[in-house]
Amino acid sequence: MPSLVIPASLLPLDGRFGSGPSRVRPAQLEHLVANAHLLGTSHRQAPVKDLVGRVLEGLADFFRLPAGYEVVFGNGGSTAFWNIAAAGLAKNRSAHLSCGEFSAKCAQAHTTPWLEAPHVITSEPGTLGELAAIAGVDIYAWAHNETSTGVAAGVRRIAGVDAGALMVVDATSAAGGIDFDANEVDAYYFAPQKNFASDGGLWFALLSPQAIERASEISQSDRYIPEFLSLQAAIDNSRLNQTLNTPALTTLLLMEAQLDWMRSIGGLSATAAHCTQTSNLLYSWAESKDTITPFVSNPAHRSPVVVTLDLDASLDASALTQVLRDNGIVDTEPYRKLGRNQIRIATFAGVPLDDVEKLTSSIDYVLERL
Ligand SMILES: *Cc1c(COP(=O)(O)O)cnc(C)c1O
Repeated sequence: MPSLVIPASLLPLDGRFGSGPSRVRPAQLEHLVANAHLLGTSHRQAPVKDLVGRVLEGLADFFRLPAGYEVVFGNGGSTAFWNIAAAGLAKNRSAHLSCGEFSAKCAQAHTTPWLEAPHVITSEPGTLGELAAIAGVDIYAWAHNETSTGVAAGVRRIAGVDAGALMVVDATSAAGGIDFDANEVDAYYFAPQKNFASDGGLWFALLSPQAIERASEISQSDRYIPEFLSLQAAIDNSRLNQTLNTPALTTLLLMEAQLDWMRSIGGLSATAAHCTQTSNLLYSWAESKDTITPFVSNPAHRSPVVVTLDLDASLDASALTQVLRDNGIVDTEPYRKLGRNQIRIATFAGVPLDDVEKLTSSIDYVLERL
């Protein structure tokens, strides 16, 4: 029995508000069951390769991919892509915006014996620094959305960089929820367990012709690159609708269903507008109260997909999230290492406005009684 029972009329239909993994819609599970005959079959044969082809082409369409760009994928999630970029995209030196756990890990992954020490602009959690051109840097890396803090950055080429320098963006939690122009980036990578509402385990990257060229150039150099981390191998395999080793077919099927649904409701501009609307509902709800404040003080940097809200000292965020959890509303806890009196709510593409409204009613109900 929960310590405090939230009336059923106030509860969201689906209580999953995690920032990844995120809720899977029932229609995705139906798609999985309808295609169950693919499970347990070879990823080197046409039925699975066709599935891969549909997902890669669907992504190219969804992201309005410019001519010459390719969608590449592989096993290992976004974390693997950090090492892949350090091994196969960075030539001599990288530069980073570090504003939270994920962007810091990306910078750390570029601290290697074969690269010069990265140039890192670090900002306090909840804020965003600014990355400017630096001579000698050949890849610039930042997160489109820093999931640990709920800070969103723009996707725009940095002016004045060395010729051929690449823009590399971690879009794990942003992809599908924030609109952008792919011409402004050379590698836009993500994993499917956030806006795409699938399981984890894969990474996808939109690569520009310059990024593909860089991968080829480095793969022909004398740098040692483990095959599993070879971007060139991933490019070659993706062109054949396959991965170096076995991918998770369930992940691909759940992703296909979500991607098709996102395209059917109007594509990236529509899903991004939805995320803006649902997150704004939460930010305004918070701002209407004396005891709750958006963690990201600059409204221009507030994420439309991961809403972080600070509670004042009179309220206990961990007691709140525990009561919510007891009532089936899960994963509203803040990023564990941030250690703040905070809640964090994902407003990804698949989270309906109605559920977010209900969530605020549930929280109001609990806070009045805690
Ligand atoms: C979730 C997340 C990651 C980690 O993704 P994995 O697939 O678990 O490796 C990396 N970067 C950002 C911005 C994320 O939100």
